[in-house]
Amino acid sequence: MRQFTSVVLGAGGVGKSALTVRWVRAVFLDHYDPTIEDAYRRQVKIDNEFTSIHTAIFLTIQTAPQLEVTDTAGAEQFTALNEFYIRSAQGFVLVFSLTQEASLREVESLRQQIYRVKGTTVPIVVVGTKSDLTAEREVHRSHIQQLSQNWGLPFYETSAKRNWHVDEVFEDLVRQMRAQYPEE
Ligand code: GDP
Ligand code: MG
Repeated sequence: MRQFTSVVLGAGGVGKSALTVRWVRAVFLDHYDPTIEDAYRRQVKIDNEFTSIHTAIFLTIQTAPQLEVTDTAGAEQFTALNEFYIRSAQGFVLVFSLTQEASLREVESLRQQIYRVKGTTVPIVVVGTKSDLTAEREVHRSHIQQLSQNWGLPFYETSAKRNWHVDEVFEDLVRQMRAQYPEE
């Protein structure tokens, strides 16, 4: 069975853990545990082929508002850690919350970091989370559709709570990784 390593990146609280746990364990994590790192594994049959995916989750706070003015040493440390995770992974899920405009800027910065480290053909999926929270929505669908089109990256609006479009995210990533890293 083929094995891939992916990493889920995005600002704190956007729903990285909830998205991943929904997919790996089929439950909704309704509490917030601000752990910065975590790892999961799932075997999945996609297009009639089994694949094992190791998914590391990593919080990035590099462009988070609380770091903008103050602690540059902290920011550099996070950048170094980001780079470690980026090097180790074959595919990326870049996560922002549809309810938090600022978290989308983090995705833009991560995308550039990944391209610098891995080149521009690397498998990436962009995910906007918490689509069930319609009243709190800050990011318009047209805005993110335009962005993802400019970036040339697939984009999904998900809800880990309602289990909307979560499978599609990881299926898309697995297909991209299979195509990008063909079996010898
Ligand atoms: P992380 O820091 O990116 O791992 O964020 P979490 O996955 O821990 O999510 C942060 C908070 O948002 C938690 O309280 C989650 O229950 C909540 N959350 C995550 N995804 C969703 C979602 O799709 N819908 C709703 N309503 N809440 C969510
Ligand atoms: Mg988390």
